[in-house]
Amino acid sequence: MKYALVTGGSRGIGKAICLRIAEMGYTVIINYKSNDEEANDTLNQIVSLGGNGELLKFDVSDPEQIKKAIENWKSTHQDQHIEILVNNAGIRKDGLIVWMKDEEWNDVISTNLNSFFLITRMLVTDMLVNKYGRIVNVVSLSGLKGLPGQTNYSAAKGGVIAASKALAQEIAKKNVTVNCVAPGFIKTDMTKELDENQLKQMIPMSRFGKTEEVADVVAFLASKKASYITGQVISVNGGLYT
Ligand code: NAP
Repeated sequence: MKYALVTGGSRGIGKAICLRIAEMGYTVIINYKSNDEEANDTLNQIVSLGGNGELLKFDVSDPEQIKKAIENWKSTHQDQHIEILVNNAGIRKDGLIVWMKDEEWNDVISTNLNSFFLITRMLVTDMLVNKYGRIVNVVSLSGLKGLPGQTNYSAAKGGVIAASKALAQEIAKKNVTVNCVAPGFIKTDMTKELDENQLKQMIPMSRFGKTEEVADVVAFLASKKASYITGQVISVNGGLYT
């Protein structure tokens, strides 16, 4: 069995990524924080497509939960390893820096940035030993150009982009690639309170993106076809200038 771990796979972009990666023949480990119903829905959709999956509930912002969940998974899956890691789970807590509370800064950094470090560190060794692996990080337009009201989120996503470029060079020789996908405005729960009619005026394609449009790029970067691409950031944003 070939395994892929997708963090934040219960809803939105992560759900679409789980389905695409299941179609590639991987058993998808669906991580999520709390929404059991939506996580089960992702699993059921995978099974109805003829694929395989399992749920792995843990909070990616909590180092102890990450350690425990991944160690448990490894102990119950001896001789199996995770070939694809998609660091997708993310949150926003927007606000101007003058009003930003410590917890709004720290929650966004730990969920979006520290999780990348802690989860990748636990899985990359097996990829290096097996001389094959794919790491894809879902970042954001905000991490490329910076957006006002998102100093915490821009810092976290920008941090993942820089770390991905560094890690890509560390491990390229072992056939393990590290790339980022940077969505613009995608229709999910994260953007449901935004005014699409107003915002679409600045998007050349004049609409928000669909989760599947992000998932297709992630799936390509996670496939064997993307064998000579590493350390890159691919934007999926309808032509928004970054
Ligand atoms: P979403 O619809 O809000 O879904 C977030 C997912 O992440 C859910 O599955 C959620 O699990 C999970 N999650 C959140 N915090 C977690 C934690 N601490 N531990 C484990 N899982 C956690 O978000 P989305 O729009 O699909 O965003 C996915 C990624 O794309 C994020 O990294 C986001 O920053 C990035 N992004 C999104 C957009 C956009 O326009 N939507 C644009 C740029 C970048 P539960 O269901 O259990 O809560």
